[in-house]
Amino acid sequence: MHKPITKAQEARLAFYRNKGKIHARATAGKFNRLRWTMVWLTQIVFYGTCWLNWETNGVTRQAVLLDIAHEKFYLFGLVLWPQDALLMAFGLILAATALFFVTAIAGRLFCGFACPQTVYTAIFAWIEARVEGDHLARLKLDQSPLSARKLGLKAIKHGLWLLFAAWTAITFVGYFTPIRELLPAVPAGRLGPWESFWLIFYAAFTYVQAGLAREAVCQHMCPYSRFQGVMFDPDTRNVAYDPARGEPRNSRRQAGSSGDCVDCGICVQVCPTGIDIRDGLQYQCINCGLCIDACDQVMDKIGAPRGLIRFMSEREVGGATPTRGWIGRPRVAAYAALLLVFSLLAGWALAERSLLLVDVLRDRGALHRETADGTIENAYTLKLMNLDENRRSFTVDVSGPANIGIVGEREFTVEAGSIRPVSLTVAVPADSGASGIQPIQFRVWDQDRPASSVLEKSSFVLP
Ligand code: SF4
Ligand code: SF4
Repeated sequence: MHKPITKAQEARLAFYRNKGKIHARATAGKFNRLRWTMVWLTQIVFYGTCWLNWETNGVTRQAVLLDIAHEKFYLFGLVLWPQDALLMAFGLILAATALFFVTAIAGRLFCGFACPQTVYTAIFAWIEARVEGDHLARLKLDQSPLSARKLGLKAIKHGLWLLFAAWTAITFVGYFTPIRELLPAVPAGRLGPWESFWLIFYAAFTYVQAGLAREAVCQHMCPYSRFQGVMFDPDTRNVAYDPARGEPRNSRRQAGSSGDCVDCGICVQVCPTGIDIRDGLQYQCINCGLCIDACDQVMDKIGAPRGLIRFMSEREVGGATPTRGWIGRPRVAAYAALLLVFSLLAGWALAERSLLLVDVLRDRGALHRETADGTIENAYTLKLMNLDENRRSFTVDVSGPANIGIVGEREFTVEAGSIRPVSLTVAVPADSGASGIQPIQFRVWDQDRPASSVLEKSSFVLP
């Protein structure tokens, strides 16, 4: 049973919880190191990837670019078109299933270490601490009357935040407009309306979310925090306080009469979302582990074993033996199976992806025409889409009624990543024996890769 909290303790906790913005106390330890490793890793990838180039057929382009104007998504050597929507859908489903799988095993690890909200809040809080000082200095500054010093510090902090937000926005837009063209265009004012809108919107979004809203996003705005509990089972490991070991908590640690919790409140002070993990699992907890780091230091000081707060399952908190493996954990097994299925489907979609798409349109002007030598002709337009990054040459064949054939040119070259409409005339001898509407089939094949051909059905009209 929890010991009732005293007025002094309540006042101390309220100091951190109810003074408006949460100023979390800094802590050190393995989870803090892991958090900063993830900050560096994610930011190196985000700010660095848009500067990578990719060379193909002597042409250099940005390696990762969402070229909306030309409806292409460049991903290093892969170029995705709107026709690859299925592959992209599998990719997104795969990412969501992987997130569910990790959540079922280890709770909100994504929230604590990889979510952009967490990462940018950590960066903005770091800038704030460099300008205004530690958590106590920041609290005092917030509560002090307006002065030149306070105004100066706030102006520097917000200025640095805005600079960082602006750089983040330029990087973000640099994934849609080549960043080497975008960067000189910003000071020169040579931006299009959409680029200007997204630069301002994304800079403002970063500044408000990471600088001003912070934990409020996790607590009140993030839908994932609300439904993550659905993915948990009794063996999901979350950051939890061990009440069997910690209670009854006692700041004086009377020999033989108290648990290991000395009620110092440091686990609350370091919490970026301002909660008390000793109250049990709460949706506001992002599993960042900073309270573990803080409490481990307290345990070291009082000579008690570490791990009063640790990653534990609901079953372990209740004193039961955790389930071993996935047997008996149907939710985890189901997510693992879905992960496997969608990985296979994505692999299949990638392997089966055709770099040639063909659209056949019948000439609507005339159903058919008869030539002087008694041949019946139909006219078609074939749209040849070359999704490859190389120029390719294609040959067109047709099959259908006896002696059907193409009149004139049937070999066409299509430039890399472009669409070429070609006109075709198909002829059938009048004495072929067929009449009315006959099904026909076009076969288009790459002269360098005859095995990979595309078949398209159409119809041929005879008298
Ligand atoms: S840091 Fe540990 S000892 Fe201190 S209040 Fe929290 S759980 Fe108790
Ligand atoms: S309770 Fe602990 S793990 Fe949860 S958000 Fe707070 S510091 Fe992070």
